Amino acid sequence: MILEELRAHVLQTALLLPKYNLVWMAGGTVCARDPETGYVVVTPSGLDYERLSPDDMIVTDMDMNLVEGKFRPSVALNLWTGFMRVRPEEIFAVVHTHSPHATAFSVVHQPIPVITETMADWFGQPVPVTRYLSVEDPEFPTLPVQVMGNGYAVLLGNHGPITVGKTLEHALERAVTLEEAARTYSIACSIGKPVTLTAEQATASFDYYHHRYGQKKS
Ligand SMILES: [Zn+2]
Repeated sequence: MILEELRAHVLQTALLLPKYNLVWMAGGTVCARDPETGYVVVTPSGLDYERLSPDDMIVTDMDMNLVEGKFRPSVALNLWTGFMRVRPEEIFAVVHTHSPHATAFSVVHQPIPVITETMADWFGQPVPVTRYLSVEDPEFPTLPVQVMGNGYAVLLGNHGPITVGKTLEHALERAVTLEEAARTYSIACSIGKPVTLTAEQATASFDYYHHRYGQKKS
């Protein structure tokens, strides 16, 4: 079995999604690219993570050709690899969840503004949302990548959030941070009119965290 360590890491990350209330049952996806082989390890769709072992993870190349695995990769794999393809030095991990507050924004097709310093540190810009795309839509593998641009998250319209990162830890922390920000913003809207960070403030906070604080988070 190849990429044993990465398989285990992908599964460990997937097991944390329900722990953080980001998915239920078999929802969500975790995907990571091995820097040496360029192969991708992805969770099988439609199966309960609790019942899976590392050898149930699927290994493919970047063109979705199966390299090793008992299950067929989901059709959405072309989207996860699409993020990695356009920013190969920056994106090695993709996490997709159905976390409720972030998904609510995807339902009203409203971007999540930068509302807290933590959100600015991890994203540096508002999180945009796409129109609804079924997996059979010709734009499914490309539009979310375009809409995310140089950011680190995008909301799939009427579906849920996708976060990316250089590592699985970073993509997961972004998924948690995004859900927390969406929840906080919803609460703030019920109290009054939230004051969002300006683009300059968000960029400055992101740059400080990444370049001067001594922790690379991309
Ligand atoms: Zn989904």
